[in-house]
Amino acid sequence: MLQVGVVGCGVAGQAVATLLADAGHRVTVFERFTEALPSGAGLLLQPTGLAVLRALGLAGEAERLGARIDGLLGLNHRGHVVLDLAYADLHPAAYGLGIHRGALFGLLHGRLQRSAAGLVTDAEIVDVVRDGGRATVVDKAGRRHGPFDLVVVADGAHSRLRERLMPRARAPLYPWGCIWATVPDHRGFATAPGMLQQRLHGTATMMGLLPVGQDQVTLFWSLPAAELESGGSLDIEAWRIEAMALWPEAVALIEYAAHAASFARATYRHVALPRWNEGPILFIGDAAHGTSPQLGQGANLGLLDAQALSRALATNADLATALAQFARRRGPSVRFYRQASHLLTPFFQSHLAPLGVMRDVLMGPACRAPGLRGMMTTTLAGLRRGWLSVDALDADGRYPLDS
Ligand SMILES: Cc1cc2nc3c(=O)[nH]c(=O)nc-3n(C[C@H](O)[C@H](O)[C@H](O)COP(=O)(O)OP(=O)(O)OC[C@H]3O[C@@H](n4cnc5c(N)ncnc54)[C@H](O)[C@@H]3O)c2cc1C
Repeated sequence: MLQVGVVGCGVAGQAVATLLADAGHRVTVFERFTEALPSGAGLLLQPTGLAVLRALGLAGEAERLGARIDGLLGLNHRGHVVLDLAYADLHPAAYGLGIHRGALFGLLHGRLQRSAAGLVTDAEIVDVVRDGGRATVVDKAGRRHGPFDLVVVADGAHSRLRERLMPRARAPLYPWGCIWATVPDHRGFATAPGMLQQRLHGTATMMGLLPVGQDQVTLFWSLPAAELESGGSLDIEAWRIEAMALWPEAVALIEYAAHAASFARATYRHVALPRWNEGPILFIGDAAHGTSPQLGQGANLGLLDAQALSRALATNADLATALAQFARRRGPSVRFYRQASHLLTPFFQSHLAPLGVMRDVLMGPACRAPGLRGMMTTTLAGLRRGWLSVDALDADGRYPLDS
């Protein structure tokens, strides 16, 4: 059994710590915040992420708290279909799940606390020092924890440890991000259709509505990262007018968000590591492969990382062999989603207006063309292993974790 340190008590960190503690490893999680807390917008869980929650015994509760999502519908400002995809194409029982990040966090955190893993809060890890084959984590106060046989770094897209420990990693800030707010939807405007909906005007204007359960909807609005990073205040009245012009039917949600003025900001990084690990220090989740959220995969990929690591350690006595197996298992899919995200995000968020025209002309018909529709739906559902390789759902419409 291994001594394992996990940096970051987010989606990937909590899932991996719980799975490894359940398998009998001695696990300690380090989180910079005094109290481990969720931050961020609602999430769309794919059949892949739901399968990992099922393995953790959390899928039933997640489904109770979240909202079933049957597909994705994106229209442009003229009302023309840009994206129209349905999980049912893959299997009649397939679906995604919109869930408030707080709800997902609560489930994972409760499960972590019921496991044998330890949690050290108020511990911002600033370094991981290799010590022979083992590694010791160092927090901001200079305290040293360990040594551990394995340190799993899951400190998110803006990881400082990645900069320090993998200087050859690339993690540029994407020039666009978003603001978001979660608002009540008592009239069922967005929740009733059970879809992730988007409205687009060119590549500079995009609004999304994701039902997240309990009559709540997360509203996303695209903005250049420069505006988000400046720290200046947002002109909510100007936003309200623009949003109403783009999506007048969503008036109640827009008005509520404008008056509550409780927008949070998010920026993204496109992360690429030269390899997953440096000896006993392994990167997972957004720290290893953050992308823009356009494809709705980040949390799902992090959950799959956690499950794949737990499986690799269960089937290999030697750590180096287990980490090599983990990298082989996760590499192709993560590479595909990184590439697809790089390729597609500028069609939705960029200053490249011609891409918006191409998108509006080509993507609607592509969603109806049999081969391309299958490619797009399997991409949405998290099933791609590559441009030519794809996993299938099982007979019950669920993602088989051992595929
Ligand atoms: C607007 C938006 C919408 C999104 N929508 C979706 C979606 O629909 N579907 C989807 O699957 N994904 C979505 N994502 C992506 C998803 O949020 C991330 O992929 C996911 O949260 C990554 O999980 P993680 O555990 O790797 O990192 P995080 O969840 O970011 O967790 C990192 C943790 O590490 C802690 N930490 C950081 N540094 C340190 C340190 N030095 N020491 C100790 N602790 C530290 C942080 O406090 C945090 O608790 C979206 C992201 C954004 C921004």
